[in-house]
Amino acid sequence: MNTQEYIAIEDQYNAHNYHPLDVVISHAEGVWVYDVDGKKYMDFLSAYSAMNQGHCHPRILKVLQNQAQKVTLTSRAFRNDQLPLLARELCELTGYEMMLPMNSGTEAIETALKAARKWGYTVKGVEKDSAEIVTCAGNFHGRSITIVTFSTEENYRGGYGPFTPGFVTIPYGDADALEAAINENTVAFLVEPTQGESGVVIPPQGYLKKAREICTRHNVLFMADEIQTGLGRTGKLFACAHEGVRPDVVAIGKALSGGFYPVSAVLAAREVLGVFNPGSHGSTFGGNPLACAVAREALKVLVEEGMIENSARLGDYFLGRLQRIESDHVELVRGKGLFIGVVLKRKAGGARRFCEALQEKGLLCKETHEHVIRFAPPLVITKEELDWALERIEEVLMMD
Ligand SMILES: *Cc1c(COP(=O)(O)O)cnc(C)c1O
Repeated sequence: MNTQEYIAIEDQYNAHNYHPLDVVISHAEGVWVYDVDGKKYMDFLSAYSAMNQGHCHPRILKVLQNQAQKVTLTSRAFRNDQLPLLARELCELTGYEMMLPMNSGTEAIETALKAARKWGYTVKGVEKDSAEIVTCAGNFHGRSITIVTFSTEENYRGGYGPFTPGFVTIPYGDADALEAAINENTVAFLVEPTQGESGVVIPPQGYLKKAREICTRHNVLFMADEIQTGLGRTGKLFACAHEGVRPDVVAIGKALSGGFYPVSAVLAAREVLGVFNPGSHGSTFGGNPLACAVAREALKVLVEEGMIENSARLGDYFLGRLQRIESDHVELVRGKGLFIGVVLKRKAGGARRFCEALQEKGLLCKETHEHVIRFAPPLVITKEELDWALERIEEVLMMD
């Protein structure tokens, strides 16, 4: 079957909740993916940063295969021999006291919200059912009804009401607005250190540090959504570390899987995750031995193969090269590590046509919102491969 035949089947039988590029991928390795017609592309999206370690990383693949032959699911009704080791390794790597495993980013955020509310009632002493959580305009934290409650994107919310009470929205990057939004019922501030879906929006220098200070002063949990920015994407293990900020709660997902098997986690102090007792929260697949074995190896290769340093070094190089491209279409280029947004001028006619032109030249990326091209290649990319990509990006940004 060829590309058009696969697309026709998908259009008929699969819900149309995405607008993908018309490329049907059948196999992949490292930074490269191959379509059913035999064409080769460089992956410049990395499945929204779920593939930081590159496609089908051989070490993670091997662990997945081995573990799949041993035991894949016990449920948390029984224990397994992978969960304790992932918990310890993750806490040792990140410096947190405890973790709670889930499957998707959305579930990790839901878990963080639940933990914050329960912490508010049992530790901070907030009156029953009156906890408030502060969130930022332009956020993306997932797709559940509670989470889209505080989305400011009409497309994500339309038709899904009624929504969940207890959330307050403030502008992103405005620490004074945070201070003003806090009252005696505020239990947490939930923030992305860089807003990925919103167009790789980096807040003003010092914002996270100020927000951290305000949260500490008011006994409010600082909760970072590092699902997309974490695990090396911005050139550090966590993006908050660029400002030396240590959140009370961190949600991770995406690259924790190495792209192999859905797995996410919440990291926090014992005071916070300790609010959960048996029965108060759970997931059938959360903490399953296959996911835990995969996540353990995904973290190991990230660290041992120097991918975080590679992201920092090549990210600087790539950003510098992109910023020197003199294209009439480009408003500005911003980024940290290998997480870069090319913001196009309104008159450029939208980012989609540039992504389609790049696809034509063998480079796969995705517009985010209407006017931003997001570049987020796997962190295993080499300088030579980046140069190959840059040549094509330059050509496309120079077209009419
Ligand atoms: C992808 C993402 C999520 C949601 O993760 P899923 O695995 O798709 O549920 C949440 N927050 C951020 C910042 C993300 O990028």
